[in-house]
Amino acid sequence: MNIIMLGAPGTGKGTVSSILKEKLNIAHVSSGDIFRKFSNEDSELGKEIKSYIEKGNLVPDELTIKMIQERLKEKDVENGVILDGFPRTEAQAIALDKILEEEGKKVDLVIDLNSPKEEILDRIVTRRICPKCKAVYNTKLNKPKQEGICDICGSQLYQRDDDTVEKVENRIEVYKTQTKPLEEYYEKANKLMKIEVTEKTGTMAKEAAEQVIEKIKK
Ligand code: AMP
Repeated sequence: MNIIMLGAPGTGKGTVSSILKEKLNIAHVSSGDIFRKFSNEDSELGKEIKSYIEKGNLVPDELTIKMIQERLKEKDVENGVILDGFPRTEAQAIALDKILEEEGKKVDLVIDLNSPKEEILDRIVTRRICPKCKAVYNTKLNKPKQEGICDICGSQLYQRDDDTVEKVENRIEVYKTQTKPLEEYYEKANKLMKIEVTEKTGTMAKEAAEQVIEKIKK
């Protein structure tokens, strides 16, 4: 089963992906995590990638597609994958269809998470991440047992450099102009499952993941 997670920053893609990974026993590939790893390296490529992430802009398609193509060759994705943060442009979506088709595979389901902007901003500035196991916490809604420390692996949590109000505003704009049109792309292909993640109805990442599991079981 190959699943795509669509959704603006802070809508819960990472958390839903982690739950689905456990329940469905398939790989979780986050393009943002791959790029963050590169951006920490002291190389020309690392510096180039960092310059895009820092501004909240997208890494160019050609580079992004190449990275994902390489990642999809690894053994752990054989049984299926949750793609979290990829594709983000129509060119990436078309390339992904082609990559999968060459392997006799396809995109099975696209989860499209949406949240009110004020909740996104609040969730992102309070988000804390484990650099080692990538677990995601929140200083308000999902606190670690010990402040600043990962419950799972004991590492020191950190706040992403691009998780500031100013940068998130840009990331949301980039999402609207470049990624939102993918809803139509996957709607036409009859693969889109829209979920509203909001405190207003109590549908948070956990409940969203439950809805996905229900749909898959049917
Ligand atoms: P994320 O962790 O998904 O919020 O991604 C962090 C940053 O990595 C984004 O703001 C982009 O700079 C870059 N990035 C992640 N995925 C993609 C993608 N599919 N295409 C282009 N840039 C990406």
